Amino acid sequence: MSETINPEFVCYRHPNRETRLRCNNCDRLICAECAVKTPTGYRCKECVRGFQKKFDTAKPQDYVLGVVIAAVLAYLGGLIAQYFGFFIIFIAPAIGIGIAELVRRAVKRRRSKRLFQAITGAAIVGALAQALPFFLLSNFNLFALLWPGVYVFFMVSSLYYRLSGIQIR
Ligand SMILES: [Zn+2]
Ligand SMILES: [Zn+2]
Repeated sequence: MSETINPEFVCYRHPNRETRLRCNNCDRLICAECAVKTPTGYRCKECVRGFQKKFDTAKPQDYVLGVVIAAVLAYLGGLIAQYFGFFIIFIAPAIGIGIAELVRRAVKRRRSKRLFQAITGAAIVGALAQALPFFLLSNFNLFALLWPGVYVFFMVSSLYYRLSGIQIR
């Protein structure tokens, strides 16, 4: 005995699966595997992909520009921050926000998650490049990495939050 499938209610990609679920954007029938839960209801994978593309406005040159600016500023920020000792915990987030604002202006507020990740990665590399010589000169004393580590953590987390936390109008 095999299950009879109502051909009027099958997934648009899997004609052997019966379903009553529809994508709330294009109204096609979708099976459980093809359905993606979004804040506004279930959607097919194609509609979800199209939706993401609309918010991914970054151009290739934005990656170059963003990465270079973030790395250089994170490096310079580290040079300044090392003179502040404990106050680094106040200075570092300000530097992170400053970098985020400058980068956002440079890339004309275009955005994509991958761009933000690349910028954040570049800021980590720039900050570590500044801290590394001290680590080497101190004979690999991990304590020499304490304040640079604090700087990287606070700077990078506020940079990433500033970049990605701003909602699209
Ligand atoms: Zn759809
Ligand atoms: Zn399916």
